[in-house]
Amino acid sequence: LVRIEGVHKYFGDHHVLSGIDMTVKEGEVAVLIGPSGSGKSTLLRCINHLESISAGRIRVNGELIGYREKDGRLHELHLKDVARQRRNIGMVFQRFNLFGHKTALENIIEAPVQVRGLEKVPAKRRAQELLDRVGLAHRASYYPAQLSGGQQQRVAIARALAMDPELMLFDEPTSALDPELVGDVLDVMKDLAKSGMTMIVVTHEIGFAREVGDTLTFMDGGIVVESGNPRELIANPQQERTKSFFSKVL
Ligand code: ATP
Ligand code: MG
Repeated sequence: LVRIEGVHKYFGDHHVLSGIDMTVKEGEVAVLIGPSGSGKSTLLRCINHLESISAGRIRVNGELIGYREKDGRLHELHLKDVARQRRNIGMVFQRFNLFGHKTALENIIEAPVQVRGLEKVPAKRRAQELLDRVGLAHRASYYPAQLSGGQQQRVAIARALAMDPELMLFDEPTSALDPELVGDVLDVMKDLAKSGMTMIVVTHEIGFAREVGDTLTFMDGGIVVESGNPRELIANPQQERTKSFFSKVL
């Protein structure tokens, strides 16, 4: 479903991604791990074209993201085409970025109603189902400030799901949470994985990687150092950099 080929990204002179190759098959959960500054967030942001890329190709479902190719050269797509592509890709960030002046339910129906033109009644029904799915059926009318961090993050997941994305990107969704709230969010992500959603998850939760991940990719310094089966890679990393990283986080 996702094919990343030879992706380079510069911020000015800073070469942040140096030729990333990665594929994620339909229904797979790909876990991305690596030290701070290794380029994980940048890579995720390139996948829905929140960042432009300096070279390479990113395809979702065969469709080039952010660009069209003509005579071997890439031309950036118009915003409305980028917006169409993004609708198919849900993203959940480290910081819950809910609209503070809207209730949980209103947050979830916002995009389906505004972007897709869905009627409010079916949109609300669907939002209520999604809230139920993330264990927050009883919190529909709460404002973000009245919810715990973990609850806000689950609303953010429900909001992303409301657009029926084919792919979900998670950027350290639990790292800003109090430890006792992490489990609830990971459980929602586990259920989502079981339901067959294709997911790319940046996380330091090794347990999640081992249990839920189909693949584990270790990045450092803008390259993929090593990738493979999560259990094997964690138990028996081949590269020195991977070994030293896991010896610190495990
Ligand atoms: P962390 O684990 O801390 O979230 P990360 O692996 O997600 O790290 P990125 O956020 O992708 O790392 O950053 C990779 C590098 O790119 C860093 O050196 C960062 O300073 C740089 N960088 C990221 N965003 C920008 C930007 N908008 N402009 C300039 N440099 C940037
Ligand atoms: Mg990051």
